[in-house]
Parts: sequence; C-alpha cells; structure tokens
Amino acid sequence: MDFKPEAAVWNITMRCNMHCKNCGSACTSAYSDELATNEAFRLCDKIGSMGFSSITLSGGEPTTHPDWDLIALRLHVNNVMPNLISNGWFIDGSVAQRAARANINTITICIEGLEETHDEIRMPGSFERIMNAFTEIKKTPVHLSASTTIHSGNIRQLPELLRILENNGVEVWKLQLDLPMGTMAENHDLVADPSCMDAIIALVNLYYKKTTVDIQFSDCIGYYNVKEIEDRQKKNHTTLYEWNECGAVKTSMRILHNGEILKCTP
Ligand code: SF4
Repeated sequence: MDFKPEAAVWNITMRCNMHCKNCGSACTSAYSDELATNEAFRLCDKIGSMGFSSITLSGGEPTTHPDWDLIALRLHVNNVMPNLISNGWFIDGSVAQRAARANINTITICIEGLEETHDEIRMPGSFERIMNAFTEIKKTPVHLSASTTIHSGNIRQLPELLRILENNGVEVWKLQLDLPMGTMAENHDLVADPSCMDAIIALVNLYYKKTTVDIQFSDCIGYYNVKEIEDRQKKNHTTLYEWNECGAVKTSMRILHNGEILKCTP
C-alpha cells in the first residue's frame, strides 16, 4: 500500500537556552553537522516536492536558530504549512510578529506544570515568560497550543493548569507522558507510575466537555481501558479516543538537524 508523507517534526537546531530535567534529547548546544540556512532552504523545496502538508519546526529551541522564520517562510512558499514548538522563553511581541509574517499556522508552547513546578523543571522565570508569550501570540493571527508532558510532579496540577490555559486563550492542549529518556533517564523520580494512567484518563474525561480547550492525548496515553471503551460508545462524535494506528513510516516523520529524514517521530 502506498502512503504519502503528511507531517514531520524538524529539529532545525539542537541548541537550547534551557537544560530541562525532562528533556528527551538532553539538548544544550548546536551540533557541528547542522544544516546551514541555504541548505535548509533546499530541504524546504524538497519537502514541498515530496508532498508534505505540514512541518513543525522544533529542536532544541528553534527560536535560537537565527533564520527560523525564513525557513518557515520557505516552507510556506512551497505550500507546506509551517508550525513551531517552543519553550516560549524568547517569544516576545517582536518574535510573535515574525512568526505571523512567516505564515506560521500554530505555535505550541511547552508548559510543565504550575509556576513553581514548571520553573523547577525548566528554568526560573520561564513560567512568567510563557504567560507573556501567550499574550503576544494572541495579538497575532497565529493559533496557540500548549503541550504538557505528564510526570509525577504535575499530575495533580492538571485541572488548575487547564484553567490557566483556558484563561489565556489556548486552543489545543496536547498531553503526553514523560518517558525515561534524555535527561529524564537521570530523573527517574519524575516518571509517572503506570498506575496513574486510569486517573489521567478519568480526569480528562471529567474536564474535556466543560472546557473550550481541545484536549488531545498523544499515542503514549491510553490503550482502551474500560472507561475509554464506554466513552467511545457514548460519544462517537469525539476524536479524543480515536486512535487508529501509528502514522510512523506512513505519514508522520522526523527530520534531524542534519537534514536526514526518519520514517518515525522518536
Ligand atoms: S525540553 Fe525543550 S526547552 Fe528543555 S532543554 Fe530540551 S529542547 Fe530545550
């Protein structure tokens, strides 16, 4: 069966201004074999000819790349929708405007808990920077999403975090599990116990119909427990539990910092 590539996450740099306790890639500095901007442009043209419909610029922290917006614009002119995922630190009014001018469709900001928890995991002052980033992005036409990796320190904070996202106009909240890889491999105490899975699903069940935020689970959460099956039967209008199969190899891919295209999104 033939499959057409649809979406990919592209690590345009591995440089990052943070060194989070839960970084899956343990990012710090740029790698020596990262693409130069003109090479990235050529890759954008190739991505367009391959038929991708959207690319999410990631890293590292993509906004530490001096030409992240030019790369996004090059994707746009190739009829590929550019998105951005960021830790939010550098997103002030001017960066939000750059994103809008580059035709970025959605910026997803990673938020790892309430202020004290988030700053402890990421960097002091980073929660406040995110609140400012939310405000500045909402002044532009760019869509606003948030992403949270669930760990032992933030499970009980999810309802309050949802309220904060709602109040800041976040449209989509992506939830995934923190896995013991990268710097998380050294922070095992943060890995959520698998027995928490039912509680996470129950919590989302409780809230998702009452909120304006579209709550989405990543593939690492939920494997059709009894509650999910009941919900799927009752609410077949929702996509919350409609996991059809992994898109790896078929439609979803990862582009490494050196331009290599992997048929999976690790
Ligand atoms: S998790 Fe994100 S913000 Fe934190 S070090 Fe890794 S790339 Fe940087």
